[in-house]
Amino acid sequence: MKLQELNKITSPFGSTEKMPVLFLGHGSPMNAIEENEFVTGFRNVAKTITKPNAILCVSAHWETRGTYVTAMQNPPTIHDFGGFPKALFDVQYPAPGSPALAQETKDTVKKTAVGLDDKWGLDHGAWSVIKHLYPDADVPVVQMSLDYYQTPQYHYELANELASLREKGVLIVGSGNMVHNLRMLAWNKLNEAEYGFDWALEASDKMKKFILNDDHQSLINYHAQGKPFELSIPSPEHFLPLLYVLALKGKNETVSLFNDKAIAGSLTMTSVKIDKA
Ligand code: ZN
Repeated sequence: MKLQELNKITSPFGSTEKMPVLFLGHGSPMNAIEENEFVTGFRNVAKTITKPNAILCVSAHWETRGTYVTAMQNPPTIHDFGGFPKALFDVQYPAPGSPALAQETKDTVKKTAVGLDDKWGLDHGAWSVIKHLYPDADVPVVQMSLDYYQTPQYHYELANELASLREKGVLIVGSGNMVHNLRMLAWNKLNEAEYGFDWALEASDKMKKFILNDDHQSLINYHAQGKPFELSIPSPEHFLPLLYVLALKGKNETVSLFNDKAIAGSLTMTSVKIDKA
């Protein structure tokens, strides 16, 4: 028996056309229940993608020591925030889990031992955006955690190992924000359609240039990019999901940006789609 045939039997997903990869700038949890241009952007990008067998989501909001994937059949909707209206706490996103994809991910990654988790679920980094992609919650979702003890280079290399999942109908989604400094948020500008501090716009422009030029190393080395990057990435968790997505870009694949706006001074919603040429 050829290896490829054996693989078809052992993989519950079989082989498919190569799936795109998405980085989604999730912004405020309120995007889960509001109607705005970003939500429209999420819906529109989903229309350009073949419906996946499952989603593997790397969310800014799940940090652990070591790497884990959610492995339960029915992941609970986690409301991991405070001070928002009840309507947001009432949201349930009952997408099933996929113990099979969790196991497949564990088997695929060689860099570290991936743990199977039965305690997490779907945090708002995942459900507040995936609900706009698949409002019927009919695509199984598995989350993968961020190991907060590891370097950006480590995360990039780990993500690289997930590439084969793209050919099994798995849509890999990184959910974070490229520029994300909540401490400096301009609360008085929250209602403006677009507003970015100079440093945020400068960092954002550089990030986009690096992304479009396939200069991933400069993004991995974001600590060396000066003050605007320092202010834009005060902690790594919202930025690292971008590295997971970029690591999955094949040589001749295309990169496109959408939802490319700064809001409230210190936050960018800029999102990325990687697709085969
Ligand atoms: Zn967030």
